[in-house]
Order: sequence, then C-alpha cells, then structure tokens
Amino acid sequence: MPALPQLPDVHGHFGPYGGMFVPETLMSALNDLAVEYERAKNDPIFQSELDELLRDFAGRPTPLYLAERLTKNLGGAKIYLKREDLLHTGAHKINNALGQILLARRMGKTRIIAETGAGQHGVATATVAAHFGCECVIYMGSVDMERQALNVARMRFLGATVVPVTAGQATLKEAINEAMRDWVTNVRTTHYILGSALGSHPYPMMVRDFHRVIGIEARRQIQEREGRLPDVLLACVGGGSNAIGLFHPFLNDKSVRMIGVEAGGEGIRTGKHAARFQGGRLGVLQGTKTFVLANEDGQIELTHSVSAGLDYAAVGPEHSYLRDQKRIEYDYATDDEALAAFRTLAETEGIIPALETAHAIAHVIKIAPRMAPKGLIIVNCSGRGDKDVSQAAAHFSM
Ligand SMILES: *Cc1c(COP(=O)(O)O)cnc(C)c1O
Repeated sequence: MPALPQLPDVHGHFGPYGGMFVPETLMSALNDLAVEYERAKNDPIFQSELDELLRDFAGRPTPLYLAERLTKNLGGAKIYLKREDLLHTGAHKINNALGQILLARRMGKTRIIAETGAGQHGVATATVAAHFGCECVIYMGSVDMERQALNVARMRFLGATVVPVTAGQATLKEAINEAMRDWVTNVRTTHYILGSALGSHPYPMMVRDFHRVIGIEARRQIQEREGRLPDVLLACVGGGSNAIGLFHPFLNDKSVRMIGVEAGGEGIRTGKHAARFQGGRLGVLQGTKTFVLANEDGQIELTHSVSAGLDYAAVGPEHSYLRDQKRIEYDYATDDEALAAFRTLAETEGIIPALETAHAIAHVIKIAPRMAPKGLIIVNCSGRGDKDVSQAAAHFSM
C-alpha cells in the first residue's frame, strides 16, 4: 500500500470529491476562513490556547477503556472504547466547536450560528459561545426538536436562540439550508460553526483536523497499554467527523483495518435508511461533491435512522475518497441492531451510549467473536446516551 497523499488540495478536493459548491456571496468568506485557518494552524499561541481549553474545559485526554465484560461475553478480540462520551457536553462535537470559536474570535466575528441534528452539535456550539460571551443562533429541524427535547432545553439555558425549521423533512438537511441562508445575509459579523466533516472547503479538512486529537491520543494510549497498534478501528459515520478523527492518524499504518458504520435504518431494501455507501451515488449536496442518497434525477431522497445524528443524505467527501482507495471499509447497522447494542453496552459495561454510537457497538458485536482473543479493536464511543433514554424507553416500552 503506497502512502496516501496529503489531502485535500488547495481547492478542497479529495480526489474527485469535495470542493466548494456554494453561492458566490459565500466564496470570499470561505476563502478568508481557509486563509485564517492556515495561519492559526501554524500559530503556537492558537495551538496552546486550544490545547488548554481541550484539557481544562472539555476534559481531554479522554480514557481508552478496556471493555472487559463485553470482551468476555463476545468471546473474541479484546475491545477498547475511546471515551469521547466523557467529554464536556457528552460527545466528541466539543473538539470542533472549541477549535472553530477560537478561529471566529481571530477573525473578529462575534455572532455564532450552527445547525444541529440530534442537538449535540447545537449544545456544543451554545456552550462555547456562552464560554466566550458570543451571541448564538442554532437552526434545528422541528422533527428533531421533538425527538431531542432535552438538548433544546440545554441550548436555551446556555443562552442560545433555537430556531425551528419546518421545511421539507424538518431534520438536519433543512437546518443546514437555513444556517447557510443566515450566513449569506450576516457573513460580515457571523461565523458558521459547521458540525461535521461536511460542506464546502475548508470545513471537511478543518473539522477533521480538530478531531484528529481522538486518534492521536488513542494511538499513544494503545501503545502504552498493549505495546502495539490495534487490528481494527470502528466508528459510526454520520457526516463522518468522529470516524475521521479516530482513523486519520492511522491511515498510513497498513496493518490497521478501519470500518465506518452507517445507519441502516429499517433495512437497506426498504429504502428507509441513511447508508450512503449502500445504494447512494455521486452528487452535490450543501457545498460538497460526495456520495449522496438521491434518485436518478439527482433529487435528494428521504432518509431514516433511529438516531438523528446519523440521519443525513450525504457523507463527508474524504470518506468517499478513502472508500474508493479501499483504505476504509463501510458497513451498516439497522435501527434494531443499534437499539439492542444500546442495551448490551449499558448492561455489560455500565455505559449508556448515544444511539449513534450504538451503531458502532452493534458492529463490534458482529465482528469481535470472529476474531482471535489476541486481536485488538478500538471503538470510538462518540457520545453518551442521556439524550436518547426517553426514545429508547418508549421503544422498549419501559
Ligand atoms: C453527531 C454525532 C455523531 C455523528 O456525527 P459524525 O460527524 O459522523 O461523527 C455520532 N455520534 C454522536 C454521539 C454524535 O453526537
């Protein structure tokens, strides 16, 4: 396997994917952002400020935890969980929100906007905005507001204005449209903190870089614990930020297999799913060229997942590229498999995962028993399940 090139190129391309498909009015803002990001990346003051916030405010480094009872019950490879669920606000999202708000401050922007699906990114953004005393507006689909009422209340307590979006399916895609519309209008004063490795350049690169800390820590921690690299890395893939953050620092380690797990919803054949690599096609959605769930005319199809955070029609462009390169494999877990895994992890380890994370846990339940006991798996435990407890309780009639 030859070493993979440093990507994206200066225009944000990951091979044939990525790029900048945005209205003219946003081009200069995105170019300014790319320039400022390059400067910040090479500025030791920016890095030390971010490192300090990640440590003292967010709670890094997160533990690499040996899931002993889960390992024993499955009877195969040793399973480690990278505990992003222990971060402040309950998921990996805060890594990116902190990085981006520091950039916004460098650019003199005092108003912060964001979209949110499950509400985790909205909460992370409202949190960093409160920390720095910035005005904050969060766009959220009205359907998602209903299924994630706890996070809506959290955002409001943090001082954010939550704007319900009722267009279309009233979920994440429509919320992103509204956030883009706001940004076009208010771009002089406003920074848009996009929540995944998605959208126009420079977001997929920038969001990835802010989450690479997950993989950098995991690499060091597994070396300390086991004296070698893992055999398999596993993560759920919505837009793909927690997955690329864990995987990226291992891309050139050819012994490490990587698997991204998408939302299989009610099953691929029913069409009610959000697994872009199962029946998706090349298309452009919300600023980037990538795999999308669309019909032959390019119309975006309806998506479905029990987890709001995986319920989106496009996948981050770098994932499309790494799939073509056969560097990352992609599989899926259904709603039912994720719900079962949610219970399994709670009962065997005392950890209630987010329903998004439960998709990755469902996959480890499938593959660990087929591996030898000397095998090592790291699963990214991307978030905690507090936000999902009432939905799961309703499902199981508890
Ligand atoms: C948002 C979210 C995801 C999905 O987003 P990615 O960008 O694919 O990581 C996964 N897990 C949790 C806990 C989330 O909050």
